[in-house]
Amino acid sequence: MLTIKDLKDLHGKKVVVRVDFNVPQKDGKIRDDNRVRAAIPTIKDLLAKGARVILLSHLGKVDWKKLAKGEKTQEDIDAQMKKNNLAIVAPRLSELLGQKVNFVNATRGEEFDKACEALKDGEVLLVQNTRYEKGEEKNNPELAAIWAKQADVFVMDAFGSAHRAHASTYGIPEILKGEGKPVACGYLVEKEIANLMRCVEVKDSDRPYVAILGGLKVTDKIQVIDSLLKKCDYIIIGGAMSYTFRKAQGAKIGKSFLDEGALEYAKKCLEEAKGRIILPEDSVITDSFEPVSGRKISVVEGDLPEGFEGVDIGPKSAKKFAEIISKAKMVFWNGPMGVFEQDEFQAGTKAVCEAIRALKGKAFTVCGGGDSAAAIKQFGYSEDFSHVSTGGGASLEMIQNDGHLPGVDILK
Ligand code: ADP
Ligand code: MG
Repeated sequence: MLTIKDLKDLHGKKVVVRVDFNVPQKDGKIRDDNRVRAAIPTIKDLLAKGARVILLSHLGKVDWKKLAKGEKTQEDIDAQMKKNNLAIVAPRLSELLGQKVNFVNATRGEEFDKACEALKDGEVLLVQNTRYEKGEEKNNPELAAIWAKQADVFVMDAFGSAHRAHASTYGIPEILKGEGKPVACGYLVEKEIANLMRCVEVKDSDRPYVAILGGLKVTDKIQVIDSLLKKCDYIIIGGAMSYTFRKAQGAKIGKSFLDEGALEYAKKCLEEAKGRIILPEDSVITDSFEPVSGRKISVVEGDLPEGFEGVDIGPKSAKKFAEIISKAKMVFWNGPMGVFEQDEFQAGTKAVCEAIRALKGKAFTVCGGGDSAAAIKQFGYSEDFSHVSTGGGASLEMIQNDGHLPGVDILK
């Protein structure tokens, strides 16, 4: 696979770059510009080499499929398009690059072609949301051809979208490869792959390899658990997920979140893991998930009382988890230990962050997953990890598919 460093002669070349500018927004403003920042090294490098850079990205959802099924109306689609106008990214991108960013409010047609063809060396063009196009998520070949026509070179730097074979992530490089034109990954994708591959291809020197899993549903993570069970020495399980496992062991879990459909699976895992799965011994419990005044919050060991739900791991579990983590040479973490969005239930997730901070310089530590990465950032631990992935779903698919992602494999 070519990386951006292998692309030398770019003067006057039109380089189409798939970036991930799918930023969270609030009231028409960017709430967190992390994803824009993450793409800057690649864009700057290309501009410095005299390329004419054309940026493609999606933003949010446009439910074309639901429209076709009659589950959404044209008005719904119009509202989604209005909400997900990629123009909001242009000013921030311009600030971060320190140069003018052209924006074209079209994804095909005369206006689009003209904007691409008017670019001069070292100039950058941001194209409207790729999901304004019905064919984007279907990897429609005509659409991919329209975009590929503007590209002498394709660079993939949208790690967060690399698990999707869409027209902009898969269709374009497929066409370019067929034409003998270069396709490469950008700096962000290169870094993500290097770090996540290490969690997939485990070396002896990386053992003990400890996985920490949490978050909501077992069902969402079955393939990840299967894959990690094969590779890891220990799997620590916290979060809502742990109650399905504890129920599978025969414990009483009150009204904790239960993933009923995954009970049998959890039983099977516990049998096969032969003691390598570590579950919480105590829980922070409450009678009300909603933060109403006067709700009861306490800590219990073992069985949960009726009418209460577990919303975080307790201090005893935090200590036990930290002890196992302290011996690790490699850690992969996905999923918060509790309802970290509420102050009262953050301690477990913070304790795991602390345990990982203590490994700094001694072990290779990675976090993948949208909410876990958000928690780490919120609590100020980003710098204490060897790597915090920018791709939620993509990082998990990378783990479960042994390092394969469609948007990366097509570059090879
Ligand atoms: P990630 O995005 O990191 O893969 P998930 O999406 O699986 O993680 O899970 C994150 C969500 O799980 C958070 O919103 C958090 O509040 C919730 N959660 C964690 N522990 C519990 C719990 N004990 N009860 C209910 N929800 C929980
Ligand atoms: Mg999530």
